[in-house]
Amino acid sequence: MADLDGFRRETHDWLTQNAPPDILGLAANDLEGNWGGRKATYAVPGLETWLQRMGERGWTAPTWPKEYGGGGLSPAEAKVLAQEMAKLRIPPALIGFGLTMIGPTLLQFGNEEQKREHLPRICRGEIRWCQGYSEPGAGSDLASLQTRAVRDGDHFVIHGTKIWTSYADKSDWIFALVRSNPTAKKQEGITFLLIDMATPGVSVRPILLISGKSPFCETHFENVRVPKRNVVHKVNAGWTVAKALLGHERTMVAEAFGSGGGAGGKRGTLGERAKHHLGSENGRLADPILRDQLAQLEMDTRAFALTMQRAKDAGRAGHQPGPESSIFKVYGTEVNMRRQELLVRIAGPQSLGWEGPGFDPEELATTRDWLRSRGNSIEGGTSEVQRNVIAKRVLGLPD
Ligand SMILES: Cc1cc2nc3c(=O)[nH]c(=O)nc-3n(C[C@H](O)[C@H](O)[C@H](O)COP(=O)(O)OP(=O)(O)OC[C@H]3O[C@@H](n4cnc5c(N)ncnc54)[C@H](O)[C@@H]3O)c2cc1C
Repeated sequence: MADLDGFRRETHDWLTQNAPPDILGLAANDLEGNWGGRKATYAVPGLETWLQRMGERGWTAPTWPKEYGGGGLSPAEAKVLAQEMAKLRIPPALIGFGLTMIGPTLLQFGNEEQKREHLPRICRGEIRWCQGYSEPGAGSDLASLQTRAVRDGDHFVIHGTKIWTSYADKSDWIFALVRSNPTAKKQEGITFLLIDMATPGVSVRPILLISGKSPFCETHFENVRVPKRNVVHKVNAGWTVAKALLGHERTMVAEAFGSGGGAGGKRGTLGERAKHHLGSENGRLADPILRDQLAQLEMDTRAFALTMQRAKDAGRAGHQPGPESSIFKVYGTEVNMRRQELLVRIAGPQSLGWEGPGFDPEELATTRDWLRSRGNSIEGGTSEVQRNVIAKRVLGLPD
């Protein structure tokens, strides 16, 4: 305990001295640049400095071993670091699929060479990763994927198309599932591969959405040569790796959306926004039904955040997420969808703007956040698929 108190004091001092002033108070979802990678751009200049400082110390991945670029902290120390950052309103130096998905998967399944090559570059934010799972004919039934991998000496030659690849156009490497044995039972002919997006034959086409943005892309592979050393785990045993990564993904999606971040940050809490739009009587919201709904949502969000805190503590102590991550995913995304709908109702017609005069930036963001939340029940595996997993693998119900 005394050691931990000492660590807390040192951490507090280091954070106070090293966090650039322009990043203080930024919420993770206000940030653009802290996904890292070769094409990174930074919302404020201090974010780049902050990433460098935290990366050097390994504190972007506090519990990963030092030899792989992490901080080598114990679970208790990592929690202290998170608490001190929260107290000082310091945002994370880095987020993204490297830290939350492929990194933990490589720690579990990667060989020594892969860990030494990829993990330090993730911790320093040098490489941004994207996920190549879904295909035009394989989403919920992921094991039906058809992107071909044909062995040619020390390489695999990859041919096929991935779809809904979030941020492929901003990423440097992709982790992908490919079909290496077309005759085996579908789950037994899949290999998990790491592919440098700069390899000849990889091309990315952003999918333009109604918002005018392109959060995801089609990713094409035309006779792309990938060294066999980039296979994670074993050839044709990629399904095991894929499932483990999905556990990390579902936990990450649940936490990212379920913690109420979308309504926090610079835009204020749900209660503040309700008072702003609807006014108050004696310091309370006048509408008792809305007050009730708001209080219920805040309680559910808080209870969920505490549950995720427990899951995070278990993760720091080395627990690998299991099928319970499907429960987190369903609940966390439902909480966020409820929150976004409530925010739209609170703002009324002012939440229906798209651009132009008549709406302030917060109102325009409310519309976009609400529309974005519609994808919550799909990304990382749909809610129906999660409920199937919960029924079979958590509750043990028959098929
Ligand atoms: C915002 C967002 C980001 C994404 N990012 C990525 C990414 O980076 N990389 C990536 O690889 N993929 C990504 N995806 C794709 C996502 O994983 C798939 O969309 C998802 O798995 C569903 O697949 P599908 O779209 O093919 O739908 P389908 O599988 O065709 O499903 C259609 C409908 O049928 C239902 N259904 C299907 N099978 C069953 C069943 N057995 N029981 C009950 N209902 C069923 C589904 O629930 C759904 O409602 C992203 C999706 C979104 C929305």
